[in-house]
Amino acid sequence: MTYSRSVLHAARDIRIEVAEMPGDIAPDHVRLRLAVASICGTDMHYFRHFANAGFFLDNPVTLGHEACAYIEDANGHSFEKGDLVAINPVIECGTCEKCLTGDINMCPAKRFPGSATTKPHIDGFFREYFDFPARCCHKVPDSVAPHHLTFAEPLACAMHSVNRAGVSAGQKVLVTGCGPMGLLATIGAAAKGAEVEVTDLKPEAIAAAQAVGAKGGFPVGTETPPDSGYDVVIEASGSPHGYNQALGAVRKQGVISVLSLIQASETPINLHLNALKEVTSVGSILFTSEFGEAVSLIAGGTVDFDAIIAGRYPVSHTQAACDFMANGEAVGKVLITPDG
Ligand SMILES: [Zn+2]
Ligand SMILES: [Zn+2]
Repeated sequence: MTYSRSVLHAARDIRIEVAEMPGDIAPDHVRLRLAVASICGTDMHYFRHFANAGFFLDNPVTLGHEACAYIEDANGHSFEKGDLVAINPVIECGTCEKCLTGDINMCPAKRFPGSATTKPHIDGFFREYFDFPARCCHKVPDSVAPHHLTFAEPLACAMHSVNRAGVSAGQKVLVTGCGPMGLLATIGAAAKGAEVEVTDLKPEAIAAAQAVGAKGGFPVGTETPPDSGYDVVIEASGSPHGYNQALGAVRKQGVISVLSLIQASETPINLHLNALKEVTSVGSILFTSEFGEAVSLIAGGTVDFDAIIAGRYPVSHTQAACDFMANGEAVGKVLITPDG
């Protein structure tokens, strides 16, 4: 039996290959049939540069670490063929000091699909079939929409940032930047009962945030959020300007949670405000216990994730999907679905 997979060979060069299904499945793995995957900002770094944050890919790789799938072969694990599962892409070692305290995102030996930091690289999910560790698969009821369930991983990342800031009911939260992660942080903070406002350059991105729980928003360059008006600011723009906006908008002794990877820049950061306002600034990467929290929120069906879907492309059009994301006009997430 053969199947289609997309493979990144070089920057902006994704090829569709027909591969032979491997005969054996590793004992701790199950075989999965893609339901829906989604493109992450990390995938876009690899697509643009064949590298991310200074880590170059050693060889062609299938991208994608956000997906849900159907069990094709349970391989002796406690699933039935056809079960819909959310996939936690973090394969932690399970035995180091960090894993033992539950901080799997800090595990130095963790492995991650479609990433240059895992050597040898593990192919990601932008393909029709793949094997993955059974313990990473979380079965959900059939009623859960796969095009929502694919957001479990990025929503978990956003919720980790929300939890790192200690967001609680009734707090005023500002999310700077309404890219996919800002939109998911809006969902995560609103789910905690916070009153969320957002900023973005694009009015349609602010509208998307409002569709998923933001009370209001401020178009950058036109309106400014109130100075010192927020208990928590979640920085999701990835820009030093966004961080400066956060330093202005956070109240005295408030918290800034940095969800984005702010790129190196010449722009000065107003760090004096950090001292004068006694700001607590926390970083966040991946997630710990939030994967289950994200799956529950999605399965609950209370959030209109359709409002943050920018487009859908079959595996055979992964290049077009990435080009669409790369042109910067998409608002929300771009999905990859099986062909046919
Ligand atoms: Zn991601
Ligand atoms: Zn570990």
